[in-house]
Amino acid sequence: MQVQRVVLNSRPGNNGEPSPENFRLEQIHLTSDLEDGQVLVRTLYLSVDPYMRCRMNEDTGAGYLASWKLSECVDGGGVGVVESSRCSALTEGDVVTSFNWPWQTHAVMMGGGLQMVDPQMVDGHLSYFLGAVGMTGLTALLGVREKGRVTKGANQTMVVSGAAGACGSLAGQIGRLDGCAKVVGICGSDEKCKALVEDLGFSAAINYRSGDVSARLKETCPAGIDVYFDNVGGATSDAVIEQMNKGGHVILCGQISQYNKDVPYPPPLSDKTQEILQSRNITRERFMVLSYMSKAEAALFELSQLVKSAQIKVLETVVNGIENMGVAFCSMMKGGNVGKQIVKISE
Ligand code: NDP
Repeated sequence: MQVQRVVLNSRPGNNGEPSPENFRLEQIHLTSDLEDGQVLVRTLYLSVDPYMRCRMNEDTGAGYLASWKLSECVDGGGVGVVESSRCSALTEGDVVTSFNWPWQTHAVMMGGGLQMVDPQMVDGHLSYFLGAVGMTGLTALLGVREKGRVTKGANQTMVVSGAAGACGSLAGQIGRLDGCAKVVGICGSDEKCKALVEDLGFSAAINYRSGDVSARLKETCPAGIDVYFDNVGGATSDAVIEQMNKGGHVILCGQISQYNKDVPYPPPLSDKTQEILQSRNITRERFMVLSYMSKAEAALFELSQLVKSAQIKVLETVVNGIENMGVAFCSMMKGGNVGKQIVKISE
C-alpha cells in the first residue's frame, strides 16, 4: 500500500526558529503483510508539542528524549485505529494510542507498544486522547497537584503563563476547581484573553505582547501571587515571580520562550529572580509528567469525568492533512493555536 510520511529534512540549529521546510513529505510503499505481534494502524490524529523542538537538534540535551534523525520518519503522540492485527491483545476497529506514533498515514507497529483506549472516555472525541485526556491533561492536573500546593479556602491567587495553550488552558481550570480564589492567565493575543475569561472562567487575562505585564499583574492580582504555573519562562516569568507572595509555589512546567535558544534546561534565572525566590521562600520545582506515570490511570479517569461533565472545557485548534504537520508544529511554536494543536490525518 502507498502511504505518506513526514521525515526530518533539515535541522533549524540550536539557536534557530523551526520552519515547515525542516520537514519533508514522502510517499513510500508499506508492506501490509504482518509478522507475529504486529498490527496495521490507520492514523487518525497526530499531536505537535513544544518538546519536539529539542528533538530537532542533533543533541536534545535531555537524556529521556532521542533526537530525530535526518531523512527518517518523525514521531510523537498519535491516535489511530487498528485495521488488521496479528497481536492477540488487539483486533480490527480498536482505537489505540502511542507517544511514538510515526508521522505516517498508515503504519505497521508492534501491538505491545500501543495502548488501547476506550472512546467512551472522551465521548467519541478521539483527539482528546492527545490533549485533555492524554499527556497534556496529565501535565496540567499532576503539575498543579504535585507542585502547586493549592489549598481550598486559602484564598490563593494563581497565575498561568502560556494560559491559552494546551496545558495552560487546563491548568488554570484545574486551579480554579481545586480551590484557587482567583486565576489569571497570561497569553499572546486579545482573542485568547477573551476565550480565557469568557469561555474558560479565568478571573482575568493579560496579553503579554501588548500590555505592561507587571502593571496588569498589579491590577489583577492585588493580593499578590501564591501559585504560578510556568509554561514560558523568560521576562514574563520574571515579572510574575517579582509579585509572588512569601511561601509561594512555582510549578516549573516548561520554558517555551527559550526553546529556540542554545541554553540548558531549565535556563538559568537572573540573579534578581533567584534572590526573590530565596528571600521569600518560594519553591520552584521542576515538574516532569513522565515521572508520574504511576498516577496516570487514575488521573486520566478524573480528567475524563471532568471533561464529560463539562467542568473542564477543552479548546482545540485542528489542522487537516499530514502534509501540514510541519506548518502546524511551527504555528504552535509561535502561538497560532488556541488550546491543543491537533493535526487530523484521516476520518
Ligand atoms: P501550547 O499549546 O501552550 O503551545 C505553545 C504556546 O506557547 C503557544 O501557543 C504560544 O502562545 C506560547 N509561546 C510561544 N512562544 C512564546 C514566547 N516566546 N513567550 C511566551 N509564550 C510563548 O503547548 P503545550 O501546552 O503543549 O506546552 C506548554 C508548555 O508546557 C511548554 O513549555 C511545554 O514544554 C511544557 N510541557 C511540559 C511537560 C512536562 O512534563 N513538564 C509536558 C508537556 C508540556 P502565546 O500566543 O500565548 O504566545
